[in-house]
Amino acid sequence: MKINLKPFLFWIVPLCISFLFELFFTDYRWYNFQNLVEHLVYLTCIWLALSMIKNQKVKATLTPLAFMFFTYGLWFETSFFYLFSTYFSASSIFIFIETNPAEISEFLDLYVDTKLLIFSGLLLVVLIFYLIKIKNPVLLLPPKFPFILKLGLITVFVVGLKWSGYIIANFPFQVLKGTLSYAYETYKFSDLNLDQRLGHFENVEFEGNLDSHTYVLIIGESTTRRQLGIYGYQRETTPLLSKMKEELLIYKDVISSKSHTIESLKEALIFKDLENQTESSIIQLMNQAGFKTYWLSNQMPIGIYETFLTKVSKASDQYAYTNTTRWGSVTPFDEVLLPHLDKTLEDEASKKFIVINFLATHANYNLRYPKEFNAFNTDPITPFPSDESFKIINHYHNSIVYVDYLVSRIIDKVRTRNEKSFVLYFSDHGEEVFYDRNFVGHNESDIPTKSMFEIPFFVWTSKKFDSSYHFDFEPNRPYILTDFIHSLSDLSQVKFNKFESQKSIFSKEFKPTKRTIGKGIDFDFYFKSQKDSIN
Ligand SMILES: [Zn+2]
Repeated sequence: MKINLKPFLFWIVPLCISFLFELFFTDYRWYNFQNLVEHLVYLTCIWLALSMIKNQKVKATLTPLAFMFFTYGLWFETSFFYLFSTYFSASSIFIFIETNPAEISEFLDLYVDTKLLIFSGLLLVVLIFYLIKIKNPVLLLPPKFPFILKLGLITVFVVGLKWSGYIIANFPFQVLKGTLSYAYETYKFSDLNLDQRLGHFENVEFEGNLDSHTYVLIIGESTTRRQLGIYGYQRETTPLLSKMKEELLIYKDVISSKSHTIESLKEALIFKDLENQTESSIIQLMNQAGFKTYWLSNQMPIGIYETFLTKVSKASDQYAYTNTTRWGSVTPFDEVLLPHLDKTLEDEASKKFIVINFLATHANYNLRYPKEFNAFNTDPITPFPSDESFKIINHYHNSIVYVDYLVSRIIDKVRTRNEKSFVLYFSDHGEEVFYDRNFVGHNESDIPTKSMFEIPFFVWTSKKFDSSYHFDFEPNRPYILTDFIHSLSDLSQVKFNKFESQKSIFSKEFKPTKRTIGKGIDFDFYFKSQKDSIN
C-alpha cells in the first residue's frame, strides 16, 4: 500500500490542532473524545470518496475543496465549543437568527480572545500551505482497491457513526439536521397566532392603579412537591425559602394536568375559547392589559418538545434564550438567567410581566447545579433503597437546593425594587424520584404516580402589593394548572370577559372541580387510597 505521506499529514495536522485546543482550553469532556473519533472516521470517508474519482482533473480540483471544507468544519466546531461549551444545534440557529447584530458584536467583543485568534490563525496557515504546496490528491489506498469495496466501507462507517450516536459530532450532519429541524419545527406551528403580540381576549382591563408593577412568573421544571422542605419534607431541601416562609403563600394541593412539559404548559398557559374557536396565551393577555412582557428561558428554543413554547414566548416584547442543548447533556446553569432578569427589572416600563423558565430540576439532575450546591451525600429515606436510588435522589435534592437558591434570589431582587409585585412559582409537572414507585422520571402513559403531577405552587407578594390588593388565601384548595389563566389574571388585577372567578385559586368564589390528568384519569379518585410512604 502506497501512502503519499505529505498530503496525508496535512489532513491530520488541523485535526490535531483542534483536538489539542479543545483538550487544553475548553470545558473538555467525553464529547470531545467522541468528536475526535468521529473526525477520524469522517476523514477516512472523505479520503475513500476522493480516491473513487477516476478523472484526475476533477480529483485535483475537488481535493483542495474538500480539505478547505474539512478544515472549516473543524474551526467552526472547536470555536463554537470553546465559546459555548456545547455543540451546534437547531437551537443555535434560532438564537443566531433571533439575536440582533448589536448583541452579536457585543458578544464577540466579550469572548473572542487571543487563544481563539491564535487557533484560527494556525488553521489558516495550514490551509494556505496546503493550497500552495500540495498539488497531488491524497493516495491513501492502492489504485486497484475495488470501487465497490470503497463504497461498502463508506456505508459501514456512516452507519457506524449513526448507530453509535457519534454522528452528532459531525459538522455537515449538524448543519444539515439543524437547518432542517429548525425549518420543520417553525413550520409545524406556523398557523398558530400565539406569537402575535395580541391575543383574542375581549374587554381586557387592568384594574390596578398607576404605580409601578412588576409581576414575575417562574415556571419550574420537573419539581415534585412532596420532596420540598417548605412542604414539610424531612430533608431541608429548600433552606432559603423556608427562612422566608412567613412571606410566602404556599398552596398545598396543586397538580399539573399532564406529566410532560409541553402538554402540561399548553393547558396552563393557553386559554382555549371554545365558543370562538380561538387560542390565546398568558403573554398575550398581559400584553392586552398594557404590560410590557418578557420571557427569559434556559430551555433550548428549538426541538420537538420545545418549539411550541418558543412560539408562545415570541409574543412577549422581549425574550432571551440562554441554552441550545438538550437536557440530557451538559447545559448552562439556570443562574445565567439572572443577569437578564437584572436588565429587565431596570427597564423603565411601569408595568412589567416577566416569565422565567428554569431547566432545573430536569434530569440529568447532577448536571443542573454547580458544585457548591452539593448539599446531600448521605443515604436518603426511600421505600426503594439501593445504591443507584440513593445517588439519584441526592442529585435530585441538590438540584432542588439550587432551585431554592434561584427562587429566593429572584424574590430578593424583586423585593428590593419596592414596587407592587408578586413572584409566583410553579413547576410544569412533577417527577417520580423513588418516592411512590421504584422509578425515576415522568411518564404518564406507563403507570402514573402522584409525584408526577403534584407540584409546588407558591406566591410571594410585596408589601405595597398587599396594601392595595386583596385576595383570598386558602392553602388547601385542590387546584389544577388547566385553570391557571384565571388565577394569574385574578392575582394580576387583570380582567377579561371570559374570566371565571370560581377557577381562580386566589378568589373567595373559588369552587373545586374534577381534576382530570393524563389521558382522562380522575386524579382525586385514582389516588384516593394512596398513603404517603415517607412523611
Ligand atoms: Zn417538564
